Amino acid sequence: MTIHAFDQLHIPQTLAAGPGPGNTDARVLARFAAAGTADHMQADVLRGMVECKHMLRQIWGTQNVHTFGVAGTGWSALDMMLSVIKPGDKVVAFSNGTFSGIDALTIRIRAATPQELEDNPMDPQAASVTVVEIPHGTSVTGDMVEAVLAEHKPQWAFMAHWETGSGRINDLQGFSDACEKHHAMGLIDAVSSLGVENFSIDDYPGVHGWASCPQKGICCLPLTYAPVSFTDAYIELLRARGAYAYCHHAVFEARHWGIVDGQDVEKGTYHRTHSAYAVAAFHEALRLTLQETLAKRAADYTFHEAALRKAVEMMGCEVTSNMTSLIVLNLPGNLAGREMDLVQKCRSDGFGIWPTLSAPVQVRIGILNQLNRHAIEDIVARFAEAMRAFGADIDQAAIDAVMADHYDQAIAAE
Ligand SMILES: *Cc1c(COP(=O)(O)O)cnc(C)c1O
Repeated sequence: MTIHAFDQLHIPQTLAAGPGPGNTDARVLARFAAAGTADHMQADVLRGMVECKHMLRQIWGTQNVHTFGVAGTGWSALDMMLSVIKPGDKVVAFSNGTFSGIDALTIRIRAATPQELEDNPMDPQAASVTVVEIPHGTSVTGDMVEAVLAEHKPQWAFMAHWETGSGRINDLQGFSDACEKHHAMGLIDAVSSLGVENFSIDDYPGVHGWASCPQKGICCLPLTYAPVSFTDAYIELLRARGAYAYCHHAVFEARHWGIVDGQDVEKGTYHRTHSAYAVAAFHEALRLTLQETLAKRAADYTFHEAALRKAVEMMGCEVTSNMTSLIVLNLPGNLAGREMDLVQKCRSDGFGIWPTLSAPVQVRIGILNQLNRHAIEDIVARFAEAMRAFGADIDQAAIDAVMADHYDQAIAAE
């Protein structure tokens, strides 16, 4: 066998204009690259992790002691959160898109009895789990949650806060209220909402577990830490019943963040090897959000999403999403069915928009960490160019006028 090292890998700069990952902030990348070589028990690395923990509690508006990061991506955090579910546990899960669908699969895997898992290892049908399928493009409402929890009285209830697959915001207040009323412990996939919407965990007492990711609203792709937060009640149950996990066990993993026996301690203890580079990057990303403030970032997302929405609607597209970081749209009638081709063309030009990952095929355009006029105008121009290449008749002057109006009004209001 000949030994061959491939050429150095070159990855070009692209515009990440999809549902995520977002555009990792230059400040974050700079801290990643500037970190010295240091092991995971070096004093500043440990201090950095403790500081991250405190910043994360502020961003997430919570007193939960068990608030920290799980090494990896959103699925790592979700896997930890859902590892509390044991075979035979009664669970209700709401699914209204790709991601909550995968969450529901994770839940079925966890809740399946050994026999149910063996019967269908890749897609176990756990009798104790009820998955409520909500049509693509619609939101989970509080009334839906109330009705199903009243009927099934589960131990656990699950929902995605923002379902990125279809771009829909689900009713967190209604979910939390129904969980409290029916004594279900709520678990939330907050992968897409953290750092984008201004909300506080502690306002939703029906929810006991939260899982997010580093690379969407938190702007920190260099694989760092996926935020999680758990109430004391969740942790007590986990301690009492155990979980089939080590690496994704909330009590074990919390130790490295200076959370031992339910208390904050001055510095963490070994759990597994953490990365000084990742800690430095994550720390900067959290500082960035706190300095700009979540309230300001959330308002900026709302404002810039509205501009992009107006522009694509003027191109004849139909927007079916209501998230503020992402637009999910159908192409105008004469281009219907060409969504995937259009997305592929944009992607090959370095304009990283996305299709939906489950039916129906729609186009997704995201604005993560693109919170300025220039960035939005660039996205609009690139999308218009692709539409034109596909034969759409676009009145650029009219779009420019609407965009200018949107942004000039904001300046006038200041
Ligand atoms: C992106 C996303 C995930 C998966 O996150 P990764 O970081 O890719 O692991 C899960 N749930 C939702 C709602 C998401 O938007």
